[in-house]
Amino acid sequence: MTPPSGEDLPLPDSDELASLLTRNGLRAVYRVLFESRGEPLTMNQIRERVTALDGTSHSQTDRRVRDLRDVFDVESWQEGRTHFYLLKGRRSEPRDRRGGLSAAARARVFQAYGARCAWCGRTPKEDEVKIVVDHIVPLDLGGPDREENCQLLCEEDNHAKQARFAEHKDRAEAISKAINHDDVHLRIGELLKALKGTEVPIDLINLVAREENRGDPTRRLRELRILGWTVTVRKEREGKRTLSYYTLEHAELWPDEGPGPVVRRAENERRRSKKQRSG
Ligand SMILES: [Zn+2]
Repeated sequence: MTPPSGEDLPLPDSDELASLLTRNGLRAVYRVLFESRGEPLTMNQIRERVTALDGTSHSQTDRRVRDLRDVFDVESWQEGRTHFYLLKGRRSEPRDRRGGLSAAARARVFQAYGARCAWCGRTPKEDEVKIVVDHIVPLDLGGPDREENCQLLCEEDNHAKQARFAEHKDRAEAISKAINHDDVHLRIGELLKALKGTEVPIDLINLVAREENRGDPTRRLRELRILGWTVTVRKEREGKRTLSYYTLEHAELWPDEGPGPVVRRAENERRRSKKQRSG
């Protein structure tokens, strides 16, 4: 008997598996193979066990094993006239081309997000949506292929996001440069400069802002105005969300001491005069 392989495989009851295999029948086949990791099974054995598990007909088991192999590495070989199947691990070449993340890192992202879409909150179990690992700052725009830059999105929202950023791909270099500044004002300001003359969606500003808990990019934009910048905003309803689009009209040079101290002084000044007025 070979030792169990595929230490990084998701557990049959996990949310992650539910997101990888959205059909019950596929998950049943997975469970059977998962529980027999150390011991190859014949197709007949797989059929019997799937039926024992959920009482479903086994007419589709062959096809399900095939489908399972899109996602997982299921080794199969023939001895005499009998085929054997053994679940080895995840497919070493993930089907999405981004695939630099390790299986363990993907699992941590799933856990961190509770298998929920970060935009709409839907889950595979409750809503039968497929969840994918999404790069918050897209790789094309210079985002790192690391787990800190990853979130979960349902397929639908992932497509919507890709469409929204596709139009900025030709300015990827300028955007990725903006993203790498240490100061949040510089990140947002340099992004606006890179995209001068176009409307920049708040989503893209959010990405570049990289602030914890999404921060408050609209406040940062106000602060840019303190520095003498002119940024206009246009709001548009898109489904349930209202999206804001920002256009840079005028930029100033960055202060020598950096934008942070200038903004803080201005804010303190404003608070003091407000106090004086009310007191
Ligand atoms: Zn969603």
